[in-house]
Amino acid sequence: MTKHIFVTGGVVSSLGKGLTSASIGLVLERHGLSVRMQKLDPYINVDPGTMSPYQHGEVYVLDDGAETDLDLGHYERFTNSPLSRESNYTSGQIYLRVIERERRGEYLGRTVQVIPHVTDQIKECIRNLARSDVDVVITELGGTVGDIEGLPFLEAIRQIPLDVGKENCLFIHLTLVPYLKAAREAKTKPTQHSVGLLRQIGIQPDVLIVRTEREIEREHLDKIASFCNVEPRAVIEEVDKEFSIYEVPLGLVDHKLDQLIIQKLGLNASPLQMDDWQDLMHRVRHPDSEVRIAVVGKYIDHRDAYKSIYEALDHAGFSHSARVLVKRIEAEDLQKEGVDHLLRGIDGILVPGGFGMRGIEGKIEAVQYARENNIPYFGICLGMQVAVIEFARNVLGLSQAHSTEFDGDTPDPVICILEEQKTVTDKGGTMRLGAQPCRLTEGSRVAECYGTTEISERHRHRYEFNPEYEERFVNAGLVPTGTHESGLLVEVVEVPDHPWFVAVQFHPEFRSKPQDAHPLFREFVGAALKRHKDRAGSGAN
Ligand code: GLN
Repeated sequence: MTKHIFVTGGVVSSLGKGLTSASIGLVLERHGLSVRMQKLDPYINVDPGTMSPYQHGEVYVLDDGAETDLDLGHYERFTNSPLSRESNYTSGQIYLRVIERERRGEYLGRTVQVIPHVTDQIKECIRNLARSDVDVVITELGGTVGDIEGLPFLEAIRQIPLDVGKENCLFIHLTLVPYLKAAREAKTKPTQHSVGLLRQIGIQPDVLIVRTEREIEREHLDKIASFCNVEPRAVIEEVDKEFSIYEVPLGLVDHKLDQLIIQKLGLNASPLQMDDWQDLMHRVRHPDSEVRIAVVGKYIDHRDAYKSIYEALDHAGFSHSARVLVKRIEAEDLQKEGVDHLLRGIDGILVPGGFGMRGIEGKIEAVQYARENNIPYFGICLGMQVAVIEFARNVLGLSQAHSTEFDGDTPDPVICILEEQKTVTDKGGTMRLGAQPCRLTEGSRVAECYGTTEISERHRHRYEFNPEYEERFVNAGLVPTGTHESGLLVEVVEVPDHPWFVAVQFHPEFRSKPQDAHPLFREFVGAALKRHKDRAGSGAN
């Protein structure tokens, strides 16, 4: 019998529910259990693909092309749970299915209602993951208890114990215990209110994880237990981590959350295996060196807009026992304040993916600075496209070269719309999406990084390298070294005559793990470290 864990949140958003859910998944896997992760998002958009990064943070792309919530990135980085379209549902998707069924006449003349039709649809999406080889399905509910959109989801998860047995379900609720400086006290009232709301809906949480800036006295945890009708040992504090988010699973184990879950769900678990994770954390806390990487983007003040990029850079740092210090640079500021001012002393420059005109010229200047000053450069998606534009303008002398995304009338469209995209009008879910096979040139830098010439990486774009210019680029020193297996699309370019200049049309950041850094991030950070050491040796600043 597959067990269900439901993770809900209260008091405020951004408590790190996704991180905690992923950490629980990791710990259960380290007990030899097979886990599936899932996120339910109550907003109405069918997926986050059409939302601004300011609204939503990064859009995380899966192998099957699903555009999903960034918490799925945590799931993939922490666990081995295979993820697909079934791993992330929004209200929009649920209602779309219900309405399609209604149009097909599947409700046989009945009035279609939130209960039972919408809630049944939600339950179906959860239960579909509970296949016979799965021990535990962890379903995280986005938003906060009390949100109007969240009600059908809460009602659906309330009903699941009635369908599958109470003993097979566990409700974990995350809340915040704020510390009021003026009163010098941790406050438990918001948690009591939040659990009160849940209980009104009919959900009695089994476990409370209380997020806090500083340790909470046992007396306060006991008070929460008694007011919220939860066993004292099941009120667990999760203190902010100083060094790394990857410490969260160890904190949960310290508080014996794993034992509690195993016991409450009657799971047949093997002893915990976390030694390698402990070693990783030791390396994270005690790096041997530092390296400074500039990330030049458009949503730089939004912490979550380039989430997977920052994580992948951290992983690369772990693999070199180095701390990666990221300087986040708003592309527009490069033009206002000058490249030399903002990029001086940087060991590597990365331009991530993006859309829209704002900041494009600044990104192009960042590429030029990296190329001309022999600073390692890593371009991702739009970061590859601006690298191509920069080279066309400043090396090939095509001063008006551009992408047709930004200038439809450019005389030199070195980046142009994909053939398959020419007839696309709908914006949602219509880009070139998901994992695509790619063939790398033998002996190229990129093939060296991967240690193979056959790879598969995830995509999310509408524009591509224009093959009509290929010969001119090659002759001048920017070489395509990876193509789609059809041979028709350029997926990687590099400058062989540069310490490290690689730009890719795909998104390698979605395939990086803390213990298994993505090879391109690993080698990029390696090249930046080398530059750092060489410069330190030569006394440059
Ligand atoms: N805007 C570019 C395109 O659609 C790049 C997309 C991206 O960086 N994800 O091709």
